[in-house]
Amino acid sequence: MRQPLVVGNWKMQGSLVSVEALLSDLVSATPAAGVEVAVCPTFIHLGHAFTVCGHSFVALGAQDCSHAKSGAHTGEVSAAMLAEVGCRWVILGHSERRQHQDESDALIAAKLVAAVEAGLRPIVCVGETRQQRDAGTAQAVVSAQLAGALQGQANLGQLVVAYEPVWAIGTGLTATPEQAQQMHAFMRVCLAKITGVDATATRILYGGSVKPDNAANLFVQPDIDGALVGGAALVAADFLAIINAAAA
Ligand code: PEP
Repeated sequence: MRQPLVVGNWKMQGSLVSVEALLSDLVSATPAAGVEVAVCPTFIHLGHAFTVCGHSFVALGAQDCSHAKSGAHTGEVSAAMLAEVGCRWVILGHSERRQHQDESDALIAAKLVAAVEAGLRPIVCVGETRQQRDAGTAQAVVSAQLAGALQGQANLGQLVVAYEPVWAIGTGLTATPEQAQQMHAFMRVCLAKITGVDATATRILYGGSVKPDNAANLFVQPDIDGALVGGAALVAADFLAIINAAAA
Protein backbone atom coordinates (compact mmCIF):
# COMPACT_ATOMS: atom_id res chain seq x y z
CA MET A 1 0.00 0.00 0.00
CA ARG A 2 1.57 3.29 -1.10
CA GLN A 3 0.72 6.36 0.97
CA PRO A 4 -0.34 9.26 -1.28
CA LEU A 5 2.14 12.12 -1.45
CA VAL A 6 1.38 15.67 -2.59
CA VAL A 7 4.31 18.05 -3.08
CA GLY A 8 4.17 21.74 -3.92
CA ASN A 9 6.94 23.12 -6.11
CA TRP A 10 6.88 26.85 -5.43
CA LYS A 11 9.62 27.54 -8.01
CA MET A 12 11.16 31.05 -7.88
CA GLN A 13 8.09 32.68 -6.38
CA GLY A 14 7.25 34.61 -3.26
CA SER A 15 8.80 36.77 -0.58
CA LEU A 16 9.37 36.23 3.14
CA VAL A 17 5.94 37.75 3.75
CA SER A 18 4.03 35.72 1.15
CA VAL A 19 5.82 32.46 2.02
CA GLU A 20 4.88 32.93 5.67
CA ALA A 21 1.28 33.76 4.78
CA LEU A 22 0.85 30.77 2.46
CA LEU A 23 2.46 28.35 4.90
CA SER A 24 0.42 29.72 7.82
CA ASP A 25 -2.77 29.12 5.83
CA LEU A 26 -1.67 25.56 5.10
CA VAL A 27 -0.59 24.58 8.60
CA SER A 28 -3.73 26.00 10.20
CA ALA A 29 -5.92 23.81 7.97
CA THR A 30 -6.98 20.27 8.77
CA PRO A 31 -6.86 18.31 5.53
CA ALA A 32 -8.06 14.73 5.27
CA ALA A 33 -5.71 12.31 7.00
CA GLY A 34 -3.47 9.80 5.30
CA VAL A 35 -1.69 12.00 2.77
CA GLU A 36 1.97 12.95 3.11
CA VAL A 37 2.49 16.61 2.22
CA ALA A 38 5.55 18.71 1.42
CA VAL A 39 6.26 22.13 -0.05
CA CYS A 40 9.45 23.27 -1.75
CA PRO A 41 10.14 27.01 -1.50
CA THR A 42 13.32 28.67 -2.80
CA PHE A 43 16.58 27.99 -0.94
CA ILE A 44 16.52 31.47 0.56
CA HIS A 45 13.07 30.98 2.09
CA LEU A 46 13.71 27.53 3.59
CA GLY A 47 14.99 28.61 7.01
CA HIS A 48 12.08 30.96 7.59
CA ALA A 49 9.62 28.42 6.21
CA PHE A 50 10.83 25.87 8.75
CA THR A 51 9.99 28.24 11.61
CA VAL A 52 6.38 28.23 10.36
CA CYS A 53 5.83 24.58 9.41
CA GLY A 54 8.53 22.83 11.46
CA HIS A 55 6.32 20.47 13.43
CA SER A 56 3.19 20.46 11.31
CA PHE A 57 1.85 18.03 8.70
CA VAL A 58 3.66 20.05 6.01
CA ALA A 59 7.24 18.88 5.46
CA LEU A 60 9.84 20.98 3.70
CA GLY A 61 11.72 20.22 0.54
CA ALA A 62 14.20 21.97 -1.73
CA GLN A 63 13.98 22.34 -5.49
CA ASP A 64 17.52 21.13 -6.17
CA CYS A 65 20.82 20.33 -4.46
CA SER A 66 24.46 20.15 -5.40
CA HIS A 67 26.10 16.89 -6.44
CA ALA A 68 29.07 17.88 -4.25
CA LYS A 69 29.39 17.66 -0.48
CA SER A 70 31.29 20.93 -0.07
CA GLY A 71 34.07 22.96 -1.64
CA ALA A 72 34.59 25.42 -4.47
CA HIS A 73 31.09 25.35 -5.99
CA THR A 74 30.01 28.96 -6.02
CA GLY A 75 26.26 29.38 -5.82
CA GLU A 76 25.56 25.75 -4.96
CA VAL A 77 23.84 24.36 -1.86
CA SER A 78 24.71 20.91 -0.55
CA ALA A 79 22.21 18.26 0.47
CA ALA A 80 23.59 18.26 4.03
CA MET A 81 22.97 22.02 4.29
CA LEU A 82 19.39 21.47 3.22
CA ALA A 83 18.90 18.75 5.82
CA GLU A 84 20.39 21.08 8.43
CA VAL A 85 17.74 23.76 7.85
CA GLY A 86 14.91 21.27 8.12
CA CYS A 87 14.46 19.85 4.62
CA ARG A 88 13.29 16.27 4.29
CA TRP A 89 12.78 16.23 0.54
CA VAL A 90 14.56 17.42 -2.57
CA ILE A 91 13.30 17.66 -6.15
CA LEU A 92 15.92 16.52 -8.68
CA GLY A 93 15.99 16.76 -12.47
CA HIS A 94 12.99 19.05 -12.87
CA SER A 95 12.49 19.70 -16.59
CA GLU A 96 13.08 23.42 -16.09
CA ARG A 97 16.55 22.63 -14.76
CA ARG A 98 17.19 20.05 -17.50
CA GLN A 99 16.20 22.70 -20.04
CA HIS A 100 17.60 25.97 -18.63
CA GLN A 101 20.59 24.68 -16.61
CA ASP A 102 21.42 21.91 -19.06
CA GLU A 103 21.27 19.24 -16.37
CA SER A 104 22.22 15.82 -17.68
CA ASP A 105 21.06 12.44 -16.41
CA ALA A 106 24.61 11.83 -15.14
CA LEU A 107 24.52 15.01 -13.06
CA ILE A 108 21.07 14.12 -11.72
CA ALA A 109 22.41 10.66 -10.78
CA ALA A 110 25.26 12.31 -8.83
CA LYS A 111 22.80 14.63 -7.08
CA LEU A 112 20.66 11.64 -6.20
CA VAL A 113 23.61 9.93 -4.51
CA ALA A 114 24.42 13.14 -2.60
CA ALA A 115 20.80 13.58 -1.49
CA VAL A 116 20.43 10.02 -0.24
CA GLU A 117 23.77 10.21 1.62
CA ALA A 118 22.54 13.34 3.42
CA GLY A 119 19.31 11.63 4.43
CA LEU A 120 17.07 13.61 2.08
CA ARG A 121 14.24 11.89 0.25
CA PRO A 122 14.65 12.54 -3.48
CA ILE A 123 11.87 13.18 -5.98
CA VAL A 124 13.37 12.47 -9.39
CA CYS A 125 11.51 14.09 -12.29
CA VAL A 126 11.26 12.67 -15.80
CA GLY A 127 9.07 13.45 -18.77
CA GLU A 128 8.94 13.90 -22.51
CA THR A 129 8.44 17.03 -24.63
CA ARG A 130 5.45 17.50 -26.93
CA GLN A 131 7.66 16.78 -29.93
CA GLN A 132 8.86 13.54 -28.41
CA ARG A 133 5.29 12.46 -27.60
CA ASP A 134 4.14 13.30 -31.12
CA ALA A 135 7.07 11.33 -32.52
CA GLY A 136 6.03 8.29 -30.48
CA THR A 137 9.20 8.28 -28.36
CA ALA A 138 7.72 9.26 -24.97
CA GLN A 139 8.35 5.87 -23.35
CA ALA A 140 11.87 5.61 -24.76
CA VAL A 141 12.71 9.10 -23.46
CA VAL A 142 11.30 8.43 -20.00
CA SER A 143 12.99 5.04 -19.64
CA ALA A 144 16.34 6.52 -20.73
CA GLN A 145 15.96 9.33 -18.17
CA LEU A 146 15.15 6.80 -15.45
CA ALA A 147 18.07 4.58 -16.40
CA GLY A 148 20.45 7.55 -16.52
CA ALA A 149 19.46 8.89 -13.14
CA LEU A 150 18.87 5.69 -11.18
CA GLN A 151 21.61 3.36 -12.27
CA GLY A 152 23.08 1.73 -9.18
CA GLN A 153 20.25 2.71 -6.83
CA ALA A 154 19.08 -0.20 -4.75
CA ASN A 155 16.91 1.56 -2.20
CA LEU A 156 13.73 2.30 -4.08
CA GLY A 157 11.74 2.55 -0.83
CA GLN A 158 13.24 5.98 -0.16
CA LEU A 159 12.89 7.18 -3.70
CA VAL A 160 9.98 9.00 -5.29
CA VAL A 161 9.72 9.48 -9.04
CA ALA A 162 7.59 12.13 -10.73
CA TYR A 163 6.27 11.80 -14.26
CA GLU A 164 6.00 15.34 -15.55
CA PRO A 165 5.33 15.60 -19.27
CA VAL A 166 7.08 18.83 -20.25
CA TRP A 167 4.14 19.87 -22.43
CA ALA A 168 1.83 19.80 -19.39
CA ILE A 169 3.94 21.88 -17.01
CA GLY A 170 2.53 25.35 -16.45
CA THR A 171 0.52 25.13 -19.66
CA GLY A 172 -2.93 24.20 -18.36
CA LEU A 173 -2.71 21.04 -20.52
CA THR A 174 -2.88 17.92 -18.38
CA ALA A 175 -2.13 14.41 -19.53
CA THR A 176 -5.39 12.50 -19.54
CA PRO A 177 -5.71 10.10 -16.61
CA GLU A 178 -5.30 7.23 -19.12
CA GLN A 179 -2.12 8.72 -20.66
CA ALA A 180 -0.66 9.29 -17.21
CA GLN A 181 -1.64 5.84 -15.92
CA GLN A 182 -0.13 4.17 -18.98
CA MET A 183 3.18 5.95 -18.43
CA HIS A 184 3.20 5.35 -14.66
CA ALA A 185 2.62 1.61 -15.13
CA PHE A 186 5.42 1.54 -17.70
CA MET A 187 7.73 3.42 -15.33
CA ARG A 188 7.09 0.95 -12.53
CA VAL A 189 8.25 -1.86 -14.80
CA CYS A 190 11.29 0.21 -15.87
CA LEU A 191 12.23 0.97 -12.26
CA ALA A 192 12.35 -2.71 -11.41
CA LYS A 193 14.36 -3.57 -14.54
CA ILE A 194 16.88 -0.76 -14.01
CA THR A 195 17.51 -1.36 -10.33
CA GLY A 196 16.79 -5.07 -10.03
CA VAL A 197 14.57 -4.23 -7.05
CA ASP A 198 10.80 -4.64 -6.72
CA ALA A 199 9.18 -1.26 -7.40
CA THR A 200 5.74 -2.09 -6.04
CA ALA A 201 6.29 0.20 -3.05
CA THR A 202 7.83 3.09 -4.98
CA ARG A 203 5.64 6.15 -5.23
CA ILE A 204 5.23 7.66 -8.68
CA LEU A 205 3.76 11.17 -8.72
CA TYR A 206 2.11 12.90 -11.65
CA GLY A 207 2.97 16.54 -12.36
CA GLY A 208 1.70 18.90 -15.02
CA SER A 209 -1.15 21.37 -14.46
CA VAL A 210 -2.72 19.41 -11.61
CA LYS A 211 -5.67 21.46 -10.30
CA PRO A 212 -8.51 20.82 -7.86
CA ASP A 213 -10.83 19.95 -10.75
CA ASN A 214 -8.63 17.30 -12.41
CA ALA A 215 -6.82 15.83 -9.38
CA ALA A 216 -9.43 13.24 -8.37
CA ASN A 217 -9.55 11.64 -11.83
CA LEU A 218 -5.77 11.33 -11.84
CA PHE A 219 -5.57 9.93 -8.30
CA VAL A 220 -8.03 7.09 -8.94
CA GLN A 221 -5.57 5.59 -11.41
CA PRO A 222 -3.86 2.59 -9.81
CA ASP A 223 -0.25 3.70 -10.46
CA ILE A 224 -0.66 7.42 -9.67
CA ASP A 225 0.42 7.89 -6.07
CA GLY A 226 0.04 11.64 -5.71
CA ALA A 227 1.15 14.81 -7.42
CA LEU A 228 3.94 17.31 -7.86
CA VAL A 229 2.06 20.59 -8.10
CA GLY A 230 3.34 23.92 -9.42
CA GLY A 231 0.89 26.79 -9.94
CA ALA A 232 -1.95 25.38 -7.84
CA ALA A 233 0.41 24.93 -4.89
CA LEU A 234 0.65 28.71 -4.55
CA VAL A 235 -3.01 29.01 -3.58
CA ALA A 236 -3.68 27.43 -0.18
CA ALA A 237 -7.29 26.50 -0.94
CA ASP A 238 -6.33 24.82 -4.23
CA PHE A 239 -3.40 22.93 -2.72
CA LEU A 240 -5.57 21.74 0.17
CA ALA A 241 -8.27 20.61 -2.27
CA ILE A 242 -5.64 18.55 -4.14
CA ILE A 243 -4.45 17.02 -0.86
CA ASN A 244 -8.04 16.11 0.01
CA ALA A 245 -8.53 14.57 -3.44
CA ALA A 246 -5.48 12.37 -2.82
CA ALA A 247 -6.97 11.15 0.45
CA ALA A 248 -10.33 10.19 -1.00
C1 PEP B 1 5.92 21.67 -11.82
O1 PEP B 1 6.53 22.71 -11.91
O2 PEP B 1 6.50 20.66 -11.40
C2 PEP B 1 4.52 21.63 -12.22
C3 PEP B 1 3.93 20.47 -12.31
O3 PEP B 1 3.92 22.85 -12.49
P1 PEP B 1 2.36 23.09 -12.84
O4 PEP B 1 1.55 22.33 -11.82
O5 PEP B 1 2.17 24.57 -12.72
O6 PEP B 1 2.13 22.58 -14.22
